[in-house]
Amino acid sequence: MFSTSLCNAAPANAAGPLLCQHGPMDYDVLIIGGGIAGLSLAWRLAPQLSVVVVEAESTLAFHSSSRSARQMQPSYGPAPIQELTMRTLEFVEQMSAGLPAPILVPRPLLTLGTQNDVAALVARNAHLVPLSHAETMERSPDLHPGAFEAAALDSTAMEVDVPSLIEFYRSQAVAAGALVLTNSRVGSVVPHGSAGFSVTAGERCLTAGVVVNAAGAWADTVAQLGGVRSRGLVPHRRSAAIVSTEHAVNPAGPMVQPTDESYYFRPDGPHLLISPCESIPAEPGDAQVVDADISELISRIGAVTTLGITGVVRAWTGLRTHPVDGLPVVGFDADVPNFFWLAGQGGYGIQTSAALAGLAAALITGTLTDDDGALAAALSPQRAGLG
Ligand SMILES: Cc1cc2nc3c(=O)[nH]c(=O)nc-3n(C[C@H](O)[C@H](O)[C@H](O)COP(=O)(O)OP(=O)(O)OC[C@H]3O[C@@H](n4cnc5c(N)ncnc54)[C@H](O)[C@@H]3O)c2cc1C
Repeated sequence: MFSTSLCNAAPANAAGPLLCQHGPMDYDVLIIGGGIAGLSLAWRLAPQLSVVVVEAESTLAFHSSSRSARQMQPSYGPAPIQELTMRTLEFVEQMSAGLPAPILVPRPLLTLGTQNDVAALVARNAHLVPLSHAETMERSPDLHPGAFEAAALDSTAMEVDVPSLIEFYRSQAVAAGALVLTNSRVGSVVPHGSAGFSVTAGERCLTAGVVVNAAGAWADTVAQLGGVRSRGLVPHRRSAAIVSTEHAVNPAGPMVQPTDESYYFRPDGPHLLISPCESIPAEPGDAQVVDADISELISRIGAVTTLGITGVVRAWTGLRTHPVDGLPVVGFDADVPNFFWLAGQGGYGIQTSAALAGLAAALITGTLTDDDGALAAALSPQRAGLG
């Protein structure tokens, strides 16, 4: 625990006076960001430590965490991501068994391409099994037979009910004593050496021993508030849409994408979820749809399927934020004591959520096992090439 007087101490590097209208409060850990990253970490930490989550928006998970394609795909991403995804899936499967309705639905991932591209992918990905042309058409009869040469299947991939997963993390954290505050944008983060931090969040002034940066697209901005070196975390726009089709969609069909990941589509109830898979650097913010991206995508999917897209039910855009090497940034900052990074999850923040939260919690509580040392090093904010 940290002294409540910290909030009134003269900050070494504050731009102006701190606002302490409601008086200071003490926490072991203050998590900035109420998306899936911040809430999952609160779930892991709250049974052991006093935790507060501060979210700028009036609702939790307003940004990237409510705009995903809701997939957990073990074959997707580099090796550390695949490991974290397998662990998360294992956890969510167990947790889901205790819920009134399961939150995972099998949604195999079907990857299409040339013979060479698919063979190369299968050779380096243990989760992928090659399919014959006939087997592929059987799995996805709405494909134009000439739209691909070869295909491979990840039958371990799942669709996940993300709102239920986030609600699980939130409710478990709160039940264990965490405080979750919305309308609480962090405006200043003042380090007090090894003692901790004073943080203004909305109108509150809070003190905490550890500050966690789980601010998604704003992670580098939040770091700069605390005088912490940024890590080159760049938000990238990605859109998705739910569309209606002329021919009925098989609700149990696979997620389909080409090896170059230039689009994907999958059933979404009676409709189709589609994405142009664009990855365009953007400023942090409330990302908005570019209509031309969706129109072009509809033509592209029209060319590879016989479904006949008839209209857009809804479309959205979110931000996938990652550093130059594409891996999350997780761990204590080496220069500013007790400042912890949980950011840069890119397109994997849902499928790695439980395992990344577990890894982060172990680092914060000093309980990391030797087995996870290499994984923690791969994600370290101090790794070469960041920022
Ligand atoms: C179209 C699309 C499809 C995707 N599909 C998948 C998928 O299928 N599977 C998958 O695993 N991932 C997917 N992703 C990626 C996934 O959505 C993200 O990796 C994940 O949501 C990131 O979570 P987060 O909590 O870090 O970020 P966010 O959900 O953005 O949360 C960060 C929060 O920090 C808050 N914040 C920022 N600054 C401050 C401040 N100063 N004070 C207080 N709060 C602050 C923000 O308001 C925000 O709520 C997809 C993303 C997109 C855009």
